[in-house]
Amino acid sequence: MRVLIIGAGIGGLTLAQALRRGGIDVAVYDRDPRVEATGGYRLHLDERACSALRRHLTPAHYQALLASSPGWRAFRRFAVADHRMRLLFAEPRPPSSETLMIGRIPLRRLLAYGLDDVLTFDATYTGHRAGPGGTVTAHFADGRTDRGDLLVGADGAGSRVAAALAGRPTTVPAGVSGIAGRTPLTSRTRTLVPELLREGPALAFGPRGVGLFVTVHDPAAGTLVDPASCADVPAVIEPPTLIWGALAPDGLYPGDPRTLDGAALIGLTDALLRGWDESVRALVRAGDPSSTAYFRFHTTDPGTDLTPWPAGAVTALGDAVHAMPPTGGMAAATAVRDADILAEELAQVLAGRSTIPMAVHRYQSRMSAYAPEAVRTSMQPLGWVHRLAGPVGTRLAQVTLPIVATAARLGRHVTGAPVA
Ligand SMILES: Cc1cc2nc3c(=O)[nH]c(=O)nc-3n(C[C@H](O)[C@H](O)[C@H](O)COP(=O)(O)OP(=O)(O)OC[C@H]3O[C@@H](n4cnc5c(N)ncnc54)[C@H](O)[C@@H]3O)c2cc1C
Repeated sequence: MRVLIIGAGIGGLTLAQALRRGGIDVAVYDRDPRVEATGGYRLHLDERACSALRRHLTPAHYQALLASSPGWRAFRRFAVADHRMRLLFAEPRPPSSETLMIGRIPLRRLLAYGLDDVLTFDATYTGHRAGPGGTVTAHFADGRTDRGDLLVGADGAGSRVAAALAGRPTTVPAGVSGIAGRTPLTSRTRTLVPELLREGPALAFGPRGVGLFVTVHDPAAGTLVDPASCADVPAVIEPPTLIWGALAPDGLYPGDPRTLDGAALIGLTDALLRGWDESVRALVRAGDPSSTAYFRFHTTDPGTDLTPWPAGAVTALGDAVHAMPPTGGMAAATAVRDADILAEELAQVLAGRSTIPMAVHRYQSRMSAYAPEAVRTSMQPLGWVHRLAGPVGTRLAQVTLPIVATAARLGRHVTGAPVA
């Protein structure tokens, strides 16, 4: 059995590692020129995703992931705050839960480790055709082709593979856009970091529907495994930074932010944060322009059939079928879960207990049971952004957020999503 994977992102590479370890022939194609030629900040992988990676990678390989990520002490709770960085409520995290919070580039590099002979970059998928004997042939922009028994679209939000299967785009803009960047943590900038970030990330909301995700990312400060002990597969340690990402309704951005460079995007973020906590604004202004980017959030309608095609020799996973904004911290973990399940079903084919279409059918129905919930959860903060965007929401934010913050400071139990 030969599996062609389009997209060497988080889901595609996890699938490639799992299939390879399971003895299945695999080829991965990505349009990027190199593995590290990508963007992204930090990804969160939950206990289930960690367990899948532990099973599908060699022990030395998984050890390198642990050594490249801060341990659970960096994520003891998730805080929701108002625009003055006053705690509204916090969700504590169990100390036992295995979690990876790893830079997207280190994660991609580590997931690609050992796959050099099956990984082709500079290869943009353009379409596919059914071939003889149930095979499928993938076509690429430079004219090359490849044939396999199964083609998997792991090509992310805006997937061409999934769109070809569904006969329509599987992803729509969510109406909210973001500007994200990194601020190097130095002796000066560390003094500006709000107290409430000591125990984990925070999502803050303010008037006009502006939100800000902010977190300290300092892998070397608290890895569970000593990076120096990673002799076989080297750890990838990023320098200490503050990662921030502003989000706001599309209509709040003047002009076309895609035309702006990093410095101008930082200026635009500072303008969006007018009236916010001054330390946070100073941290954003100290951001590294080369790390700053504008992006539009995309989503999939969780109420629709995610795989509206008959199971056969082509399928898709990850953001390609269930794009979700990063606001739930669930997209990467869900892509890893998909890859895990598809690999498990394909192992049955190799063992003679299933066929490729049956394996695809089982994967697609199992995935449809959990992915819509992840999309809904991830969309919730965008709902708050929309609700706070209008004049009523802004007034409500001005009046309600300080009251909720005071109540929280006084120790009263605040539940749910009171900001909306
Ligand atoms: C550049 C970038 C930065 C990101 N930054 C963050 C972040 O900071 N935080 C966060 O939570 N999420 C981020 N994400 C999204 C996050 O990686 C995914 O939501 C999650 O990991 C799900 O992974 P996936 O494998 O489905 O898709 P992805 O990890 O997005 O991978 C998709 C891959 O498919 C490739 N591809 C797309 N089209 C084609 C084509 N036609 N031919 C060949 N290859 C193709 C892309 O180059 C990419 O490598 C980012 C995604 C990208 C692409």
